[in-house]
Amino acid sequence: TTDKPSHFLEQIIDKDLADGKFASICTRFPPEPNGFLHVGHAKSICLNFGLAEKYQGQCNLRFDDTNPEKEEQVYVDAIKEDVRWLGFQWAGEVRYASDYFDTFYEWALHLIREGKAYVCDLSPEEASEYRGWATKPGKDSPYRTRSAEENLDLFERMRAGEFDEGAKVLRAKIDMASSNMNLRDPILYRIRKQSHHQTGDKWCIYPSYDFAHGQEDAIEGITHSICTLEFQDHRPLYDWFIENLPVPHKPRQYEFARLNLNYTVTSKRKLKKLVDEGVVSGWDDPRMPTISGMRRRGYTPSAIRKFCDMIGVTRSDGIVDVAMLEHAIRDDLNENAARAMAVLDPLKVVITNLPEGEVQEMTAAAHPNRPELGERVLPFTREIYIDRSDFTEDTTLSRKKFKRLVLGEWVRLRSAYVIRADEVVKDDDGKIVEVRATLVPGTVGENPPENIRPRGVIHWVSATQGRQAELRIYDRLFTHEAPDRGEEDFMKHVNPESLAVMQAWIEPGLADAKPEQGFQFEREGYFVADRLDHTAENPVFNLTIGLKDTQGK
Ligand code: ATP
Ligand code: MG
Ligand code: MG
Repeated sequence: TTDKPSHFLEQIIDKDLADGKFASICTRFPPEPNGFLHVGHAKSICLNFGLAEKYQGQCNLRFDDTNPEKEEQVYVDAIKEDVRWLGFQWAGEVRYASDYFDTFYEWALHLIREGKAYVCDLSPEEASEYRGWATKPGKDSPYRTRSAEENLDLFERMRAGEFDEGAKVLRAKIDMASSNMNLRDPILYRIRKQSHHQTGDKWCIYPSYDFAHGQEDAIEGITHSICTLEFQDHRPLYDWFIENLPVPHKPRQYEFARLNLNYTVTSKRKLKKLVDEGVVSGWDDPRMPTISGMRRRGYTPSAIRKFCDMIGVTRSDGIVDVAMLEHAIRDDLNENAARAMAVLDPLKVVITNLPEGEVQEMTAAAHPNRPELGERVLPFTREIYIDRSDFTEDTTLSRKKFKRLVLGEWVRLRSAYVIRADEVVKDDDGKIVEVRATLVPGTVGENPPENIRPRGVIHWVSATQGRQAELRIYDRLFTHEAPDRGEEDFMKHVNPESLAVMQAWIEPGLADAKPEQGFQFEREGYFVADRLDHTAENPVFNLTIGLKDTQGK
């Protein structure tokens, strides 16, 4: 590639390729299938798949499934769908760490034979005491001196299911005095009498993350194994395994800063709590920062990818303003979403000089500067709805202050006539229930005569041809800027008003929207036809995002 490197990882890759270290690169995205992916994972997906695209290498999708009790097939399926939806395709078949369990087992035997691993009987409490802490060296386990023969025998019996969970572990023999805690004889295998979503009951011992990850990379020929900064201290251990095992290839681990967003939690465990406790309707609730939640909310893959690009790749942790993500979404929708009209708080207007039953067909561009998106037909009838906030009887308001319909004055109806408000009808409580108006003939697509000065342009929907729709109006899920970084439980910061459901009137063509189709409801916001619940009979739209950044900071 001739592009300039845009971050440190590209610099490293450029150099590796220039030095002839590799002919081409191979990256991987390695989720654990213990939940749905969130916006932080989107960052990692865009980075790993993006690098493979840029350098014409390959990126694998590999499930890091070494921990069966928290993992499920539904998560595997959801993750595959999310990656594809973001617009990426993994190289070849999906891979599973569990595909390599036989090899890992062989490699554990190899370490035992070399005197570099031993079976340890310390209880978890004892083991942690023996480990010491950062400023206090650990001490050797009494089981550390077991012979290779004894270790081979015990490890094989661990595998055969002879011992209870927690009774024994296999540990690497490295250095109990190391200043790096990860090197103090880390655990390689634990006993877990648990079936696994891929391997069933074949195994009752499972490798640790550390004993699995680098070896998975080695087996797959990963050249650049990219993970988040919290694994930096694991790198010496990663390298130790690569040096001490008969691996077919030597991968390298590189770390970058994880994505943190304000007003958002990005931890599968915490997101699962929101699901399990019914705070949201599921992992794909449109308020969730999951990829499937953002999808249902109407965020587009291109906008999410753009956002991930915009925030860059660094080696220092920071918190990104969620307004940046929202900005990327808004930009994308402004560019691409078709326009439509919906009235959220309807006030009836009767056009007294249009006969009942007459339907005039207005046309409007689907998008102001995207002629290829075509036109839409808007039936104009005697009875229409406008938004209640677009009318006032107060004739003292200046033209500048109120660019809408005022009693006795004119306004333009979007893509239709200029009308004049002649009188109002009120109910017993004095509430306006109807505005009676007249249209100015010849003003569709034409300026009115000079003495007629509309104050502005407002949206409308035919009361007889329009349709009703359910609108789901979403707000931030958390009211606190750093919901999980303070003293208090993050659940305390859930916004009790993050969802409001209302009925609205929509232009009739919107009923034919396809699920997941996004629109700008003019003057109201960006909405998307709900992926699951929207039908032509019962239209349902989700608020994706407002027109402007009104939430402030
Ligand atoms: P969680 O804490 O939410 O469970 P995780 O890191 O345990 O996240 P994995 O399934 O192991 O989740 O992650 C798969 C990949 O995504 C890893 O390489 C991980 O580093 C990366 N990743 C996870 N969260 C983020 C984030 N916030 N920003 C960038 N990358 C992330
Ligand atoms: Mg993980
Ligand atoms: Mg995790």
